[in-house]
Amino acid sequence: MTDSLALPDHDWPRLDPGWVWLCGAGPGDPGLLTLHALNALRQADVIVYDALVEPAILDWAPAAERIYAGKRGGKPSAKQRDISLRLVDLARAGRRVLRLKGGDPFVFGRGGEEAQTLLAQGIPVRIIPGISAGIGGLAYAGIPVTHRDVNQSVTFVTGHDQSGDSPSSLDWHAISRGSQVIVIYMAMKHIARIAAALRDAGRPGDEPCAVVVSATTPAQTVLETTLDALAADIAAAGLEPPAIVCVGGTVPMRRVLDWQALAAPASLHTA
Ligand code: SAH
Repeated sequence: MTDSLALPDHDWPRLDPGWVWLCGAGPGDPGLLTLHALNALRQADVIVYDALVEPAILDWAPAAERIYAGKRGGKPSAKQRDISLRLVDLARAGRRVLRLKGGDPFVFGRGGEEAQTLLAQGIPVRIIPGISAGIGGLAYAGIPVTHRDVNQSVTFVTGHDQSGDSPSSLDWHAISRGSQVIVIYMAMKHIARIAAALRDAGRPGDEPCAVVVSATTPAQTVLETTLDALAADIAAAGLEPPAIVCVGGTVPMRRVLDWQALAAPASLHTA
């Protein structure tokens, strides 16, 4: 199965023993992996992966040992240090370590922290960016994060801080004033507070919003609503994380750009 996905001729980097490659796996659809990620999967002898990595992707490295390092939904990040130290130990044991994270490792993914620990311990690291859910996930819902007719800026925010609370360090008034389109990661837990903060900061109640759940996977679900109805509609639809919330004028573009609905269903998930 893997042989049919040969990498094109190129001087691909070698994952040497004692190295850790910190790699984004994209938002779900295995086709959104980068070639560097595929090259890494081909060479790793151990893969430390997060909850948001699609299981099918791990099947592309059938011989590698798999270590699950998942944390979900704003739980305290006490285990983060353990994960980083585990990576250090594996590298010191001479393993070829692939640290696989959902989306992009440097976008709300703690990849920076892990790389810092590894480098501080003298472990050589390669960073492999991935497609972030806040861009690629919205694209699969037919929502461009920018469109020349609508916005010249986009702001990415997280709905959680380190403690799992809605981030107190965020200045919602400034975001509201300065951000034409707002893309919110980890928004579900505090969605009512976030929507209220945006309303208090002057965003209109009828502003278009979209919630994209399990973007790019076969379970992808999209809810279109308004800022006023956002929290109630999420509850009524029973939507659960992982989800990306997009607020702003590019959301209605979906009416013409929802390419998945326009495509013949059979063409989407087949080779
Ligand atoms: N590094 C990741 C983000 C990790 S934070 C990235 O670049 O995408 C985890 C949050 O990402 C989730 O709570 C959710 O908001 C978002 N997310 C990740 N994968 C997603 C998916 N397939 N669909 C919707 N949201 C997703």
